[in-house]
Amino acid sequence: MLLSEHIFPAHRTEFVVELPQAAPSLVLGYGDQGLSDLAIGRRLAIGNGILTCEDDEQAWARARASEGDKGGAAARACLDMVDLKHRFLPELVSMEKIASYCLTEPGSGSDAASLVSQAVLEGNHYVLNGAKAFISGGGDTDVLIVMARTGGSGPSGVSAFVVPSTLEGISFGRKENKMGWNSQSTRAIKFENVRVPAENLLGKEGEGFKIAMRGLDGGRINIATCSVGAAQGALEACYTYMLERKQFKQPLASFQALQFKYADMATHTVAARQMVRLAACKLDAGSADASTYCAMAKRFATDLGFQVCLEAQQLHGGYGYLKDYPLERLVRDTRVHQILEGTNEIMRVIIARQLLEKGADVR
Ligand SMILES: Cc1cc2nc3c(=O)[nH]c(=O)nc-3n(C[C@H](O)[C@H](O)[C@H](O)COP(=O)(O)OP(=O)(O)OC[C@H]3O[C@@H](n4cnc5c(N)ncnc54)[C@H](O)[C@@H]3O)c2cc1C
Repeated sequence: MLLSEHIFPAHRTEFVVELPQAAPSLVLGYGDQGLSDLAIGRRLAIGNGILTCEDDEQAWARARASEGDKGGAAARACLDMVDLKHRFLPELVSMEKIASYCLTEPGSGSDAASLVSQAVLEGNHYVLNGAKAFISGGGDTDVLIVMARTGGSGPSGVSAFVVPSTLEGISFGRKENKMGWNSQSTRAIKFENVRVPAENLLGKEGEGFKIAMRGLDGGRINIATCSVGAAQGALEACYTYMLERKQFKQPLASFQALQFKYADMATHTVAARQMVRLAACKLDAGSADASTYCAMAKRFATDLGFQVCLEAQQLHGGYGYLKDYPLERLVRDTRVHQILEGTNEIMRVIIARQLLEKGADVR
């Protein structure tokens, strides 16, 4: 299985076979229904960012999805960014090509606007130099969406580019040895005098940071959805286990302490799901406060999702610690949801800024 072998599903057709609902919903989303964040948050849409989904019946598929998500999230972000008529979009949607989202650098993580990679226009090419860190799917994806500096300091000096990953001068670091998300590669990337065609600039020069942040709104819904899917999978594992496992001559389900715990886990999962759907609706509708709600949903769902998985592991006793059961992996995989796509501290920074500086009304 791809997961246990720590293999990234670079051959997309294999992955689509494993997750059969994915491709149709994605293609429908692009061709007929519009790219609805709510719809993709509820379906299984590979390459459009949501690899975890509520409609999927199998917790294992959810788990696999949550691990593999980030490459999809990158692609989702790319779809947000790339002009619909752009030549890369059809292949990204059909999954003939997948993309990585390249914002983070060794010296700029949470403070992404301080990035130092540079792109200098020379004739009809930009010459790209710099380094990126923690790039999901790096080395396995076909296209890199790279944010680099074309102007002065700060966000207004940043531009975004679509960069085919085979261009000369691009090199990839080793596959990072991670706590979870092991079927997906995470690598550093170096750019040394990479000649990117000028037509691969997304939007205009200086719009790159705005484009990158817009991509992150959808990415945050994706990650939050992965947490909800993982929590749902953990709940289902507990349901079966609590009825089957007996101690003191009674099933675990008969102990009130565990009933209360299970009730809270289910309540938290439902609350997180509602929060994510509200944010997705706001993003779909183009609401002015969509970014605030995406940040809230990401913070809330990823914290609760991880907590539910942790509690589910505890409820499984020693068996929860074994790789034979899904819980240990759900715990490892959901942990990173609190860190990436902007840490949950940064989500609080975004929310607090809107509330305290801009007087946002959340009624
Ligand atoms: C598995 C994985 C996959 C990733 N995939 C991608 C990818 O595909 N593309 C990409 O561009 N990036 C990716 N990232 C990078 C990720 O987005 C960053 O790790 C994240 O934004 C945090 O940056 P940092 O690691 O540099 O931490 P830092 O920014 O150094 O933060 C360190 C700590 O300080 C806290 N902190 C920082 N500033 C503040 C503040 N102002 N107030 C309060 N607390 C603060 C942070 O919350 C954190 O706890 C990935 C990371 C991981 C682990």
